[in-house]
Amino acid sequence: MRVKFLGTVGYHPNEVGHTSCVMLPEEGIVLDAGSGFFRVADEIMTPKIEILLSHFHLDHTVGLSYWIDVIYGKKVDMNVYGMYGLIECVNDHLFQGDLFPLPFPGTLNQIIEGLDFNLGDVLVKTERFLHAGKGVLGYRLEKDGKSVCYVTDTMADRSEIPFIGKCDLLIHECYFQNDMAAYAKKVMHSYTGSVAQLAKDADVGQLVLFHMNPLQTDYSEFESEAKQIFPDTIVARDGLEISI
Ligand SMILES: [Zn+2]
Ligand SMILES: [Zn+2]
Repeated sequence: MRVKFLGTVGYHPNEVGHTSCVMLPEEGIVLDAGSGFFRVADEIMTPKIEILLSHFHLDHTVGLSYWIDVIYGKKVDMNVYGMYGLIECVNDHLFQGDLFPLPFPGTLNQIIEGLDFNLGDVLVKTERFLHAGKGVLGYRLEKDGKSVCYVTDTMADRSEIPFIGKCDLLIHECYFQNDMAAYAKKVMHSYTGSVAQLAKDADVGQLVLFHMNPLQTDYSEFESEAKQIFPDTIVARDGLEISI
């Protein structure tokens, strides 16, 4: 599987990154639709794109409103998947007539947590983790004996191990560095040491830190701090591509 990072920072775009959007172009799967979603336009290789939302916060959903440019001139269907409330959230809020002039043309599908489903030849597993409001869905994608896990906007801890265990690639949010550990716990986000320790304990193949604090633009210390615990770590940046 080829994984392309189209938006990699949290909350709002900054000089080096757009907000959350990760794509598996060959499979037509998109994880979250933050401001990086406009870049999906250049990556589409399939007749439909399947958009898996972790939760509804705007740094993960605002990109849905870029759909006109994403599918313009192409025959591409869009299917969106998310937790309970997806249809109301997208239709009543994001595409409320005063906010956006056109309705969303894709299908909106509610995921039943814990019930695995297939998108083509990819097996999709979900689990809910703690975050403000309704929490956040983590995704585990499996194909041909390989696995990618995507967990964002939560506090890294051992409760994730049964879900992410032994995956080949773990993409995990890491909003803060170690010096903000206490604050990270308070606001239910992750910091470098907690994510690296989780990757080590879960025996994953490779760790990509993602959804960093956009008030910073140099993430080299995130990487060096995490590598002290889990050496096979890199920090995501817009445009990064990884094959597993
Ligand atoms: Zn976020
Ligand atoms: Zn959030």
